[in-house]
Amino acid sequence: MVKQNTSIVIKKTKEINSTKDLQNFETSIRPIAIYNRPKHIEIKCKNSEDVNILKRTFQDKNLVVEDKKPQQQRLIILNISEKIPKEKILSIIKEDLNLKQDDDLIQVIQTRKTLSKLNLYNLIIDTPRSLAIQLLSRKFVFVGLAKFRIDKFRTIRRCQYCQDFSHQSENCPSKKIYCARCARNHKTEDCKTTKYFCINCIESNRDGAQFPIEHATYDQNCPSYQNYIYYQNN
Ligand SMILES: [Zn+2]
Ligand SMILES: [Zn+2]
Ligand SMILES: [Zn+2]
Repeated sequence: MVKQNTSIVIKKTKEINSTKDLQNFETSIRPIAIYNRPKHIEIKCKNSEDVNILKRTFQDKNLVVEDKKPQQQRLIILNISEKIPKEKILSIIKEDLNLKQDDDLIQVIQTRKTLSKLNLYNLIIDTPRSLAIQLLSRKFVFVGLAKFRIDKFRTIRRCQYCQDFSHQSENCPSKKIYCARCARNHKTEDCKTTKYFCINCIESNRDGAQFPIEHATYDQNCPSYQNYIYYQNN
């Protein structure tokens, strides 16, 4: 079940600029909470009927009232076989969540081929937070006997100077610069290569990993990057 909307948002204007300015409005509704946000005032109500009454009250006074948009969460479903199209995955997710098939609450952001030779891809989706919580608690999407891990999608920043994930360029301890594309010692924007090598995977392999290295450090399927996300989460 999708949670009903129980909040409204009033855009701040000269007349309505703080929660105090709402005191002059007469209404029978008793909100649960009122939040003063930088650009708007948010009123949380008991239920959607209260929301509708409040909305009418404010609209009669010519205020700009909007429903609060549900907070979105970006998720990633990992290592799906290319034999299973994304439409199939989406349809199963909707079924699991008791959504209608034509529901547009789940949006595909991207599909990304992984570096595996097995022809796998990752599927990145946006869903309202309430649905994301349900999906994450299942940990997997089951397609017949196959299962695919579902996880929060995280973007991780990388040092622009040495390409390491553990710090930013302002605090870079490295004496040498490394190119994000070819792993040589020059600025990435000066690079003219068409053949990519990943300095992070070259370094990981020095420590005994056996990662493919022919990709850029910004490739989301870089095994060193994936490893880093994994250790951040566990
Ligand atoms: Zn660095
Ligand atoms: Zn280069
Ligand atoms: Zn790499």
